[in-house]
Amino acid sequence: MSSATLDAERQRLGTEEPLLRVVEVVKHFHAGVIGSVKAVDGVSFDIRPGETVGLVGESGCGKSTLGRLITQLIPATSGQVVFDGVDITKLRGEKLRQQRKQLQMIFQDPFASLDPRMTVGDIIAEPLENFGLVTGRQKDARVQELLRVVGLNPYFNNRYPHEFSGGQRQRIGIARSLGLNPKLIVCDEPVSALDVSIQAQIINLLEDLQREFKLTYIFIAHDLSVVRHISNRVMVMYLGKIVEISPSQELYDSQEHPYTKALLSAIPVPNPRVESQRRLIELSGEIPSPLNPPSGCRFHTRCPIAKVPTPCADTEPPLEQKAPGRFAACHFSERVRTV
Ligand code: SF4
Repeated sequence: MSSATLDAERQRLGTEEPLLRVVEVVKHFHAGVIGSVKAVDGVSFDIRPGETVGLVGESGCGKSTLGRLITQLIPATSGQVVFDGVDITKLRGEKLRQQRKQLQMIFQDPFASLDPRMTVGDIIAEPLENFGLVTGRQKDARVQELLRVVGLNPYFNNRYPHEFSGGQRQRIGIARSLGLNPKLIVCDEPVSALDVSIQAQIINLLEDLQREFKLTYIFIAHDLSVVRHISNRVMVMYLGKIVEISPSQELYDSQEHPYTKALLSAIPVPNPRVESQRRLIELSGEIPSPLNPPSGCRFHTRCPIAKVPTPCADTEPPLEQKAPGRFAACHFSERVRTV
């Protein structure tokens, strides 16, 4: 998104300062003599306080890398991540550590993300102790409070992770992330490893916590149906780039990018009449390698409406406003509804 387009979006949303501004962020991983993996390649967007923004795309599109860049678990190759008015890509050492207190992450795999040798109480208290926020009896009281907040028995604090189900473990991960009173939580596929019935419980819990603690979420998923109800806006990512940003309901009603349309066409509709008339848009070929992404529009090798070689294979479409609050990177957005 260009700075002029970002300015237009800010005017539309009003004067409230964004909690997070991501500006032209790039992450390239060096892969020896074969070049570099362009995992995230010039991504810009704003997030307002209290928003939930879904971030969706196929495996390998760079969405989890972007989540780690925002929380500074990995450094950016270039670009800015401005959180609460401070460019955290420029911070180092203690200053970065203090700022990151307010930026937490919930991970996908509740089995792998909790240390099996630690009790639940120690897992939840670890970040609190690292920042010197609890000692002695305070620790147990705070851990029990956090367990209660996420709907677990507060006296489970002496148990070990293997004694809990997948959904309960994800609640423990959420309790750990809440301990430092964050403002922004990046939820990296927090329900992908869970049964469908448990997914709804965890999403409801995250919504309740958002209201109670005024949280802002980035909710990463590979499936648009998962983010539909929780997100105010949705960003769609393809091969290291954001290709569409839109308010959630409007994105599901109509799409400005053929990739978004293809992703949505793959979601079953729980209505036999609608389902029987629905057309699945099959994308040809595999997602290209981020080592050597296609020229021009990165989606042109799979796009059903691409015009090649010109303009789709030789000119990269900018992420630009197509309607108020709606942005897409496509030369032919007006033709998407014909796909
Ligand atoms: Fe398809 Fe061209 Fe639009 Fe890219 S710019 S999505 S290739 S029509």
